[in-house]
Amino acid sequence: MFNDLAALDKRHLIHPVVPWRAHEKRGVTILKSGKGAYVTDADGNTLIDGFSGLWCVNAGYGQQTIVDAVKRQLEEMAYATNYFHYGNENAVRLAARLAELAPGDLNRVFFTLGGSDAIDSAIRMIRYYYNVTGRPAKKHMIALQRGFHGSSSLGSGLTALKNFHDDFDSPAPWQHHIASPYPYRNPVGQDPQAIIAASVQALKDKVAEIGADNVAAIFAEPVQGSGGVLVPPDGWFKAMREAARELDILFVADEVITGFGRTGPMFGSEYDGVVPDMMTIAKGLTSAYQPMGALMMSDALYAAIADSSPEARAIGHGFTYSGHPASAAAGLEAIRLYTEGGLLENGQKIAPRFAGGLQSLYDHPLVGDVRVRGLLAAVELVTDKECKTKPDAGLNISHHLARLSYEKRVIFRAFSDDIAGFAPPLCCSEDDIDIIVSRFREVLDELLLVNEIRTAA
Ligand code: PMP
Repeated sequence: MFNDLAALDKRHLIHPVVPWRAHEKRGVTILKSGKGAYVTDADGNTLIDGFSGLWCVNAGYGQQTIVDAVKRQLEEMAYATNYFHYGNENAVRLAARLAELAPGDLNRVFFTLGGSDAIDSAIRMIRYYYNVTGRPAKKHMIALQRGFHGSSSLGSGLTALKNFHDDFDSPAPWQHHIASPYPYRNPVGQDPQAIIAASVQALKDKVAEIGADNVAAIFAEPVQGSGGVLVPPDGWFKAMREAARELDILFVADEVITGFGRTGPMFGSEYDGVVPDMMTIAKGLTSAYQPMGALMMSDALYAAIADSSPEARAIGHGFTYSGHPASAAAGLEAIRLYTEGGLLENGQKIAPRFAGGLQSLYDHPLVGDVRVRGLLAAVELVTDKECKTKPDAGLNISHHLARLSYEKRVIFRAFSDDIAGFAPPLCCSEDDIDIIVSRFREVLDELLLVNEIRTAA
């Protein structure tokens, strides 16, 4: 059966974010089942998932109460639209619960299917807001280098990863990027205050360059995820938020990864006490048991849009599956598990073990940087610690990392520039965390057995 699937995959299935021909050569690894932090593939191999799928299965696999909630809803009613003033109970209750949990007055929720369309919704609603409130020149949007804001037509230009731009005619002229805080490789050094000051200055300079009257918003992740898990200094997010306020531009917190306990608190913005104007969420919202994301906005922004929009005009933004009742059922139950179910608390309890374990890897010859916030982390590999030398591209480290990840039965993400990313489920025990770390150490030891890597290190 497996060979058959592999052949069908090769012939028909286009995978996200891989080189297509290289994928055909490598072939697919079919994952079949999951329980807690463990997944089993079609060959019967069990791996510990140190990445929660795609940093999304925050509650872990096999949470029966989420399955039951979705099943109950599907049995009662498969779909109930939110168009034409109809609604469904789960979507209403989930919106209200999110408003209760989100920082400040982020009390208004627009449901999407995932993170990319949440970002897209933010972009569209920001444009609409400035147009209907009489400031139509405010069109330009700023994001961070190495940031990730999804892969929709509009959002992919705010994303600042080269392979999301090259040959896609992206970014658009109204999309701009400023330097990432990236403490390990920041030209201003590693002093937290200097990094914060440099980022704030970069934002001010960029706004001055474009003209304050032309800038609509800045998008930022509390911790940059897909760019290589770049944990900024404490206070960085708050300083950027304050700068946005001063500059009279909207501050959008992209919490698609950092939401739902990933960095400790329910939302990453809370870590620095930030209340953004808009927040995008997805992934942990349903713990990936159903696809769902959302754009949350402040009461003030909602009121400005609602009251300035021509009365008879339907605000033309929406998806068939906005607020799908089965997805909302998964969201309500996932959130119940994070809160009353104790998962958020468990995540906070195991976080120091996770940080300690990863930091113990500093003694390894290849480990240059370990960065952790909550259960979100990265280990950056170098061939010379003193000079922070990036491994030569010819060493193909990320390829070896991906291979060894499977061989050692530990899932992490091998980023192309020799960074291993981790985001274990919040349901892990301390033993699970130790297994992730010890298997990753084995991966690093095996890397050193590759001749060219040993010679380079
Ligand atoms: N924003 C961030 C910060 C993300 O990490 C991602 C996905 N990794 C997205 C947006 C896009 O979300 P999705 O893949 O659900 O469209």
